[in-house]
Formats: sequence, structure tokens, C-alpha cells
Amino acid sequence: MAGIFPKQVEEILAAIEKPLIYITGNDWTNLSRVVDLERTLLPSVARLKELLPARIGVLKRMEVEISGYDSLSEIKKRRRVTNLLALLKEIQALTDGEIREAFGALETNVQWVKGVGPAIAKKLERIGIQTVEDVLYALPRDYEDRREIAKISDIEVGAKKNVVATVILTGRAGRYGKNFEAHLQDGSGILVAKWFQGTVWIEKKIKQGDRVLVYGEVRRWRNRKEMHHPELTVLENDEDPVAGILPVYHATEGITQNKLRDIAARVVDNYTDKAPDCVPHSMARRLGLMELDEAFRGVHQPEEKTDITKLREKTSAEYRRLVFNEFFVLQVGLALKRHGALKDPAWTIDTRGDLPRAIAKALPFDLTEAQKKVIRRIRDEIKKPHPMNILLQGDVGSGKTLVAVLGALFAVEAGHQAAIMAPTEILAEQHYRNISAMLEPEGVKVISLVGKLKEKEKRSVRETLSAGESCIVVGTHAVISEPVNFDKLAYAVVDEQHRFGVYQRMSLKAKGGERVPHTLVMTATPIPRTLAMTVYGDLDLAVLDEMPPGRKPVKTRVISERRSAKMWEEVRGELRAGRQVFVVYPLVEESDRSELLDATGRAEYLAKEVFPEFNVGLVHGRMKSDDKDKVMLDFAAGEVQLLVATTVVEVGIDVPGATVMVVEHAERFGLSQLHQLRGRVGRGDHPGKCFLVARYPMSEEARKRLKIMTETGDGFRIAEEDLELRGPGEFLGARQSGMPDFRVANIARDGQVLIDAKDEAARLVEEDFRLEDPRHRVLKHTLRRLWRGRLALAGVG
Ligand code: ADP
Ligand code: MG
Repeated sequence: MAGIFPKQVEEILAAIEKPLIYITGNDWTNLSRVVDLERTLLPSVARLKELLPARIGVLKRMEVEISGYDSLSEIKKRRRVTNLLALLKEIQALTDGEIREAFGALETNVQWVKGVGPAIAKKLERIGIQTVEDVLYALPRDYEDRREIAKISDIEVGAKKNVVATVILTGRAGRYGKNFEAHLQDGSGILVAKWFQGTVWIEKKIKQGDRVLVYGEVRRWRNRKEMHHPELTVLENDEDPVAGILPVYHATEGITQNKLRDIAARVVDNYTDKAPDCVPHSMARRLGLMELDEAFRGVHQPEEKTDITKLREKTSAEYRRLVFNEFFVLQVGLALKRHGALKDPAWTIDTRGDLPRAIAKALPFDLTEAQKKVIRRIRDEIKKPHPMNILLQGDVGSGKTLVAVLGALFAVEAGHQAAIMAPTEILAEQHYRNISAMLEPEGVKVISLVGKLKEKEKRSVRETLSAGESCIVVGTHAVISEPVNFDKLAYAVVDEQHRFGVYQRMSLKAKGGERVPHTLVMTATPIPRTLAMTVYGDLDLAVLDEMPPGRKPVKTRVISERRSAKMWEEVRGELRAGRQVFVVYPLVEESDRSELLDATGRAEYLAKEVFPEFNVGLVHGRMKSDDKDKVMLDFAAGEVQLLVATTVVEVGIDVPGATVMVVEHAERFGLSQLHQLRGRVGRGDHPGKCFLVARYPMSEEARKRLKIMTETGDGFRIAEEDLELRGPGEFLGARQSGMPDFRVANIARDGQVLIDAKDEAARLVEEDFRLEDPRHRVLKHTLRRLWRGRLALAGVG
């Protein structure tokens, strides 16, 4: 809502607050310096009683606190001053009743807005508008610049312009008279307005002799200037058209742009000054944010001097304010969740670290500085009595597994249990093999727990675990759904976060018995910072931003499918040199509806026709896991030289001898996915090569994706580009991600606002975790409204 009081009131409030703050300052040393407080404050309070009748109760209480102040003892004075400051905050806040009323007003059904009524309301419902609030957030999709009326003769083709002209001729045109045309004359020249659809309606609307205003892009057709489907306003008699910048809304049949504008204008006029602002007034002022009601007005009814480019980009001050509010509420919610987690009990793990040190020493290489840094951070966090919650991002091959394992060893050394979870059985088993080979010589117990274990084996695992024996369990995410009690589960690692939702994270919480395990979530899909802040805002971020030395970039080329013969010859060269090759397809089997190459068919073809002299293997997601494993193992052992696969290879398997990645139908894969695939090769001593085989013609977006792949190997840049190209929802693989829907904000565009909102939210939650300050009341209501059940998870009422 607008600065909640008129300026005059704000000034008086500031004048009252000043001496009070002065008194409390410097640990109350100024208490005795202030005399005659009664005489200073009482007149101001009296004035406020006139100006703020709605706050009369609080003001009377203030008077009581002030009267007699000057003759009180120091102790009593202090209490009075404290009370007065609290009352001041109370005045500056809306009461719960007022807030409910304000939200209630926003929920008013749109049919009650003047000029709407039930018939139009029904049409509005089709575009998702039911309430007054919906109208406010139905933001213009564009703006029409009517500040200038152009002369037809002056307009250059390609420009979007307004023209005011007279209809000199109308009629049907085109094949079967499907189109409708109106010839317009403004004294300087002739412009043809043309409609291909909705022609019946438009034909009824204009007739020869009408004066009209049209807006749109001017094109040339033969020798004529044309406008196709212009925005059209029929002007009354000598009426001048509405000038200025006009909003253009998403249209729906049966309601004109002008009607939509009227409705929005009326709602802006009658409802915005009461729209509750979740951002505390003082914060908005400090950040230089414009008033919320002005923001709504500026968006729906921009002033003439507004920078229209910024409006269209939605980066103007008005939009920034709306975006800030949206991010702010979300970030406060997330900060509260983080804060809530801080209260859960966890095991305090504080050991000398001899065990992890010994293991690290035995490695054939040194840890990177980035690895050391993250391990130190883990070590510091698990010393605390509350659970660590870290999201570790690191590009493919940055050495996350080792970080996870060394972290787990602190827990083992302290006599606890640790779990390391992978998204697939293949991966879990590869982890198990590597980790047990690394740790068992040092006497660390490593247990494999995957879905396919026999019941008897599972029972024995369960027994070990519930006996509380210290160990590392390596398994799939299914570990958390197994009926296993980890009595001493103190540390859990989840690999490949984007397949592991927030709810799973919560059930993990329930696995650690009375205490919540410290959690390290790892992802190889670098998540752009802004996105991580929204979706994983309840986790702390850590980054492995350094690759182990000696990694060479994987040389990447885009190959047209028709020219793939040459590529296969190059592949043969690698195979002859004893290297191994992945070939990835988007489909498992040939399908009737698709012309795409499929893994099964192509494996046969490659084995028989192209590489009869080598062993070709096939692995895909629909195979039984035993069969899958066998092929993977053969490939890892070098017995299979060329592995045809679907994207099951995407996540994590490590085959040091593999140097070539061929991706067929690369135009079909997302950027991050391509990057992951590419990361599978060149992990050993020889540099990797990646061929992106594409079928032409392809979409502009696909072309961009492939180009980016050839330009950079930086996972973070790729992730940012991916986010930009696909938008956040798809980027994360949609629904299960729990991605909030934003009404105004766009995280690709509004990154800086998001960062600001997050900082402010964190500060506010730090100062007032229970949102008790009356000035945070609107925020509290907004959160309740928005997060409903979800906030309960955070333990906030
Ligand atoms: P990711 O981050 O993709 O999970 P991994 O943990 O699988 O990466 O590590 C990739 C490879 O790099 C593994 O073979 C691992 O042993 C090796 N590695 C890890 N840390 C280092 C290091 N500091 N120096 C050299 N090689 C390392
Ligand atoms: Mg990994």
C-alpha cells in the first residue's frame, strides 16, 4: 500500500521517535540528559489523535505512558521509553483487522468492478481473471506508444506507428474473399489495414467515412503500405485519440483492448491504495523502491515520460518494485525454513580427522584447493549441534565424490553412520566399488544397499545398521524408503540433486532417529545461482570451482547427419588406438510415430555394418538392471569398445578409457544434458572428443544450443544459457522441482533484484524470526496466504 501515512504524519512520528531513540542510545547513558519529555511529546500525540482517528486507542496508551514521566525513577523511565517505542511501531503498522480487510478487498470478485458485471466477468475468467487482485497482476503483454501520430507518407517499413486516418474504402479481398481490407487516407498518403481472421467482426465495426486510429507494424506489399491486424479504435466525430503510452493486454474474445484498459484503470484507481504491501515501509524507503500503488499505476497506466523500452522489457522501476515484492515473500519463507532447520538437533561431530587425512594421503593425487576448502567447511558445519544443509555444485569431473567420502569419514571416525546415495543402481554400485576399494584397506566398513539385494542380504544390512555399527552405506535414493533404521545416521550425501525432491530431503530427516543427519546434496548440473536461490533457497551453497589439474577441454564439433560417414572413420581411428566410444540416442526402440534413430536399431547397424571388427554393446533404461550392469562393467573393463546407449549414461559412470562421445539427434537434447554427456569422456590421460550429430533443418533455439556447446566448456555458463533458452520450469525438469510460479518475476531477467530480496529477507529473519514486530504483520499475512501448508513444514505459524 502507499506509504501508509501522509507525509505530515510521518514527520510527527519521526519527531516523537527521535528523543526516545536518543535516550536508549549508548546503553541508556543519555537517560538523565532528557528533561521535560512530557512537554515535548504530548502535543505531538494530541495532533496525531486528530490525524489518525483509527489509531486512537494506541495513541491514548501513549499518553498514559508519557504522563508523569519526568518525575519517575530511572528504572521506571526505562520501562516507559521501551513501551513507547513499541507503541510507535504499533501505530505504524496495520492491525490484523485492517490487513484482513485489505486482502478481502483484493479478493473482491471482478464482476463487482464498475463496468464489468456477470457477462464480462465470465469472459475474464477464461483468461484466469476472477478477482480484483487478478486484474492487478494481469500485466500488459506490451505497450502501445501513442505519444506520436505518424503521417502515412513518412512511415518507414518495419516501424510500429500510430496513424489517424479516414476510411475511404472497405471490402473483401484475397482468395474467396477471405480477407478484409480497409483503405485509410490521412491527407499524406494511403495505408491499407488488413485482417485475415475475425473479419466478420471487424467488417461490422468499421465503415466508409469513419475516422480511426490504428497502431501496428507497417509492411510493404507490392507498392502499398499495409498494417496487418492493427490495434483499432474508431474515433467519435472529431474526438482526438487517447494519447500517451497505453497498455496492451492479453486479449480474449468478446472484450476489446479498450474495455480491458477501462477495467484495469478502474481497479488501479479504486483498489491499489489499499493493496497490502508485504515490504515494510522503512525497508522500501531505504532501498529506494517506489510505492506499491504507484508501481501498479505505472505498469497499467504509464506516464508519458516513462521510458517505454524499459516498460516493455519489464525492467522499469515499477516492474522492479513488483518483482521485488514477489521475490521478497519467497525469500522470507525460505529464510524461515532455513532458520527452522537450525533448531533441529544433530550429532556434533568433532574429531581429529586422522582417518580422512590418512585416506587422502594414500591417494595418487593431491586434493584441489576447492576440494580442501569445501571439506574444511563441512568439517566446521558438522561440529555444530544443528544439521548442516549444503548444496554442493561442481561441474562434471570436479571431484565431488571424493569430497563426499572424506566428509563421511569424519562421521565414521566419530563412531557414526554415513549414507551416500546415488540416483541409479549402476551409479550406486560404481560408487560402492570405488569407495570400498579406497576405504576397506583402512578398516572402514562399507555396505551396499540397493533395491535388488536379496531379502536375506537386506536383513543382514538392516541388522548391522540398527546395531549402530559405524559404517558407510552406499545405495540408491531408495535407501530412504527401505525399512531401515539408521540409529546413528549422522551424515547423508545425496548425489545428483535434480532427481531428489524437497520431500525426499524431508524423509531423510526422519531417518536419523532422534537427530537429523547433516546433509550434503551434490549436483553436477550447475544450477544458475539465481535459480538455486529460489528452488534450493533453504540450502547453503558451496561450489567446487576448480578442476583437477591436467584436464583438457573436450573438443566439440557439430556434424550434419548427412556427413556422418567421415566422423565414423575418425571414430574408427580412436578405436584402433585402443580408446573407447559412447554413442548416445534419444530413443530406445524404433517407434511408429517417430523418424528418429533409435539405440536398439543403430547398435545392430553399427555392430554389423560399420564396426564389425570391434565389440559393440547396448545399454538403455528399459533393460533389466543385471543386464545393464553387465554391459557397463564390460565397457568399463574395456571388453566392449563402443557403447550404444540412451541417456542412462548421463549420470556419473566413470570410464577412464573413453575418449569419444557421439550424440545422435543432438538437436533434441537440452544444453545441460549435452554438457553432462560430454563430461563422460576425456577423464583419463587422453583428451576427449565430442561429436554432436544434428539433423537439419533445426529450430533457431537448437542451433543456438549447439553453437554454445562448441564455444564453451564452462558448465556454469552453459547452465545460464540453458536457463535463458528454456525458462526455469523446463530447465529443472518441471513439476517435481517445486518451482514457484511467479506472476511478475523472471529469474533469468531479474537476477539482481532476487539477490537484493534475498539479502533483505535474511536480515529481517535474523532480526525478527517470529515476525512479531507489528510492522512485519502484512508480511506475515502474505506468507500465510502464499505458503499455507508449506510454511508449517518450517515450523512457523
Ligand atoms: P564428479 O564431480 O563429476 O562426481 P568425480 O568425483 O567422479 O567427479 O571425479 C572424477 C574423477 O576425478 C575421478 O576419477 C576422481 O578419482 C578424480 N579426482 C577427484 N579429485 C581429484 C584430484 N584432486 N586430482 C585428480 N583427480 C581427481
Ligand atoms: Mg559424480
